[in-house]
Formats: sequence, structure tokens, C-alpha cells
Amino acid sequence: TEPMKSDIEIAQQATLRPIREIAAGLGLTEDDMEQYGKYKAKISLDVCRRLVDKPNGRLILVTAISPTPAGEGKSTTTVGLGQALAKQLQDKGKKAMICLREPSLGPSFGMKGGAAGGGYSQVVPMEDINLHFTGDFHAITSAHNLLAALIDNHIHQGNQLGFDVRRIEWGRVLDVNDRALRQVVIGMGGVANGVPRESRFDITVASEVMAVLCLAADEQDLKQRLRRIVIGYNADKQPITVADLGAEGSMTVLLKDAIQPNLVQTLEHVPALVHGGPFANIAHGCNSVIATKTALKLADYVVTEAGFGADLGAEKFFHIKCRQAGLEPEAAVVVATVRALKMHGGVEKSDLATPNAEAVERGLANLSKHVENIQMFNIPAIVAVNRFPTDTAEEIAVVRDWCEQNGLPVALSEVFTKGGEGGLGLAEKVLDVLENRPGGLMYLYNESDSIEEKIGTIVRDVYGGDGVTFAPKAKTMLARLKEMGYGTLPVCMAKTPYSFSDNPNLRGRPEGFTITIRELRLSAGAGFIVAITGDIMTMPGLPKQPAAMKIDLTEDGRIVGLF
Ligand code: ADP
Repeated sequence: TEPMKSDIEIAQQATLRPIREIAAGLGLTEDDMEQYGKYKAKISLDVCRRLVDKPNGRLILVTAISPTPAGEGKSTTTVGLGQALAKQLQDKGKKAMICLREPSLGPSFGMKGGAAGGGYSQVVPMEDINLHFTGDFHAITSAHNLLAALIDNHIHQGNQLGFDVRRIEWGRVLDVNDRALRQVVIGMGGVANGVPRESRFDITVASEVMAVLCLAADEQDLKQRLRRIVIGYNADKQPITVADLGAEGSMTVLLKDAIQPNLVQTLEHVPALVHGGPFANIAHGCNSVIATKTALKLADYVVTEAGFGADLGAEKFFHIKCRQAGLEPEAAVVVATVRALKMHGGVEKSDLATPNAEAVERGLANLSKHVENIQMFNIPAIVAVNRFPTDTAEEIAVVRDWCEQNGLPVALSEVFTKGGEGGLGLAEKVLDVLENRPGGLMYLYNESDSIEEKIGTIVRDVYGGDGVTFAPKAKTMLARLKEMGYGTLPVCMAKTPYSFSDNPNLRGRPEGFTITIRELRLSAGAGFIVAITGDIMTMPGLPKQPAAMKIDLTEDGRIVGLF
């Protein structure tokens, strides 16, 4: 057999349909969209407003077990399942659609590679989607940095609001992995250059503007959320907001196009909205609410994903995104891979390609806990085994048998090598669950619970831990958050995705651990408190061999090396 082509080779050989044809298939006219070239379009927010009375399609979440650093194939499965559903539903006149996050330039030139699916389950044009796309991240970067410049200018011009320059929370952002900018001193060079102070750069996806854009219901809600962002504190430690500075209008103007979801297609011409991409640690890690809501109006079935494993991604999808936006997901696909299960069964990273059915069996403890968690939210779970070339039939059988013994719907997914065709079994299970296993999202904590209660519930119920310790810095912030009136915001956990605990080396289903909250950060615009455990990087660095060194433009104008 021929060796499998690379993702970019597959994507470049695909024949795309003009995006207006894809849009027309969804009942959209030219007035509903702004085209960005032939294959991309922004969809007007008026579409959702016009279709407000139309019943929503059915929402399916794709999530995963605790991953290996390479990722277990959530994006690939999301695209593949969307393609499979579209095939399955063709004759019934029903439509399927996909919602994904926009990739960040950071990982594209760093280590992880693209985030537009893989193999024969990708969204295209993949180079555009992975690079500048429709400029949303640039707009977010500009809005964020405009606010930063306005803050420093305000201080330079007399500091009427009384910023304590040591307590300014708002840094600057850049969509490049650049470790040298993590901590900086700005305002150097004398009186004309402003007031010297310490600051920092984060990657754009870590900007609160990104989280705000992704949770906003519409333009006006976007503006209201921007107003609420706390940018720093005065000498009495009272918060100063964007509204105090009066910057929300100009920021909203910079974001007016970025807030519209981007329509593209999959390799099999299934419509996909690729929009927004907040970090999955210090933010909630889901595509925009607007994209999901628009898709639910345009299609009968919508497949979406949430970052990292289900302990982080699904929990935040349910507690933050669905709760704020009133979304009602009806099924969750939990992606498992043999290689990640082996890792949870105690196998070293270097040995993951060696067959080891016993290790897979031991690793099932991790899958089991994730499935229990989904069910705790009263959402039915379906297991998708994302097949890799190194998997043996025996290893796959271990997972399948276990699921069947536990009454769990399970399907082998071969969407990477076969596209939608390879996901028909999975699509069938999903449709069967939607038909026969009515769920109805239930939350694990009440909105009125305190921050400690919320964190306690997540740690005990979702992670399976014994309890929570607050470091002194977190305790101080806890008291201040209550004083400032933010004591009952939802919690956004920033934890390692590699373990249920806060220790990335505790694989499988660890027990008897406690979680240490080192720091609490306020994201008042997004509407959550970030609870930080362990070291969370908001400006990644580049690895020794960055992917950037392999990326090139050929003489005939083709991009190569982008995975
Ligand atoms: P996630 O969304 O969970 O991070 P992705 O779908 O982005 O994962 O996949 C991670 C990487 O693994 C991508 O480079 C993708 O092309 C690759 N990949 C996913 N599924 C398979 C598979 N079944 N076989 C080979 N490679 C795969």
C-alpha cells in the first residue's frame, strides 16, 4: 500500500466548492455573508436574529480521555463525524454542520502542528485556516493592544484614575510563541516615553478579549463584556475597568468583523464554522457561542469540540459555555486512542508503538472516569476509538469489549484514513443515542455556590480528588474577589490536561490526591474566575526544532511543511 499522504498534501489535492455554493446549501443568500475570497465567508449575525423562532438543531460535543501531548484526534473526529453524519442524512434531507476553534499561529510554527483536523477529515483551505484566515486573531490582538496603549497613555497624561502601576493586570499580546517577551519592562527612555513599569506579553489566544468574543451573544453583549474587564487597581486596591477608561467603543469597532463566524468546508464539502479559539487552560477552550448558535439554526445536527480531555474541556463547555449561552447538548463523543490508553496503563512515551493489550486494559480506568463524568452531567456518552496505524486488532478489541460489557455505545473511527466513510459506524451510534437515550444537561454546581464550593465540587466529582488546598496568594485573592462582588462567578480551571490531578505524571485514574490552587485570576468580561493549579504558561516558547524551520513557499507558490 502507498504511504499515507501528509495533511497538507491531502488538503492541497482537494477540489473545493465555491463558498457561496456551500452557503446556498444552508439556505443563505449573498446578503447573509461577506466573502473573503472564493472559499471563505463571514456570516452575518442577522442570520441568527432572523431565524430566532426556528427550532435548533441537535448539539453533539466531541471530547476525549486525558491526552498525550500529541493530541488524541478530537478535531479530526469532529470533522470526520460531521462528514459521516452528512453522508448518513443525505437521503433524509437533513443537514449536518461542524463548529471548530480557529488555530493559533503559535503552535503552527512551534510544535503541535495544525488544528484543522487531519488526514481525510480536515477543514479547508487548511493553509488559510492555519495562517491568517480572515484576520480575527489580528483584530483581537489589535483590540487588546489598543487597550494596553490607552492605559499607558492615561498614566502618562496624569493618571486621573489613579492606577497603581504595580497593579496593572492588562499586558500585551502577540500571536507568536516568544518566550523572551514573557516579562518585560516598558516605558524606558525618559519622560517622553511614558512611565516605566513591568509588564508582560501573552499569546493572543490567552487574551481576555478572545474569551469575551467567544462568549458574547452579539455586538452589544460584546461591548458590555468589554466594559466589565478589570484592567488594574488603584492605590486603595479598588478595581479599574475598561468602562472607567472608556475604551469599549473603539475596541468593539475593531472587533465588529471578527465577531462574525467564518464559514468554510470540509474535504467532503460539509459546511463548517471555524470561529474563535480561546486557550483551554486560563480560558474555556471552545469555539464562539455565536458560531454554535448560528450552526444550530442552519443545520439539523451540529458537531463541536472542546479543548483537552473531558475533565477540562467538557466540564467548561457545560458549566461555562452552555450555561452562559443556554445551549442544550444531547450527546458527547469521548475520543480514546490505544496509544493514550497504553500511556495511562503505565507505558513510557517511547514504547507507545509496541503492542501491549494489558497496558490498554489497565489504561481503561482513565476512559471509565471520563465517561462517568459525562454521565454525571446527564449527557449520554459514546466512545470513539480513533484508529492509528500502529493499533493492533487485539488492542482495539480490549476497548470495544470493555465498552460493550459496560453497556456503552462504542465505534471504531477511521475518519483519518477514510473520511466520512470511516465514521459511519460512529454516526450510527450517535444517531441511535439521540433517538433513544434522552439526556438533558444537569450542572454539578449551583450558580449561587461560592468559589470554594464550585472548585470543591469540580475537584471531588470530576477529578476524583480528596479536596482542595488554597495557597496563601489564592486565599488573599479569594477574600478580595468576595469583597469586590465577584464571589459567585463560575470557575475556569487551569490544570494540566495530562492527569485528573494537578501532577501531569499521575496517569490513569489517580486517587487520594488533593489539588492546590496557587492563584485566582479575575476575568470579569468573560464572566469567570480562573483557578490556577501548577505552572500555566500564557506565552509558550518555541521548541529546539520549531516547525517554522520546515515551512516554505515553493517557486510555484505552494506552501509546504505546514504539517
Ligand atoms: P486534538 O483535537 O485532540 O488535539 P487533532 O485532531 O488535532 O487532535 O489530532 C492531533 C494530531 O494527530 C493531528 O496532527 C492529526 O493529523 C493526527 N491524527 C489524528 N487522528 C489520527 C489517526 N487516526 N491516525 C494518524 N494521525 C492522526
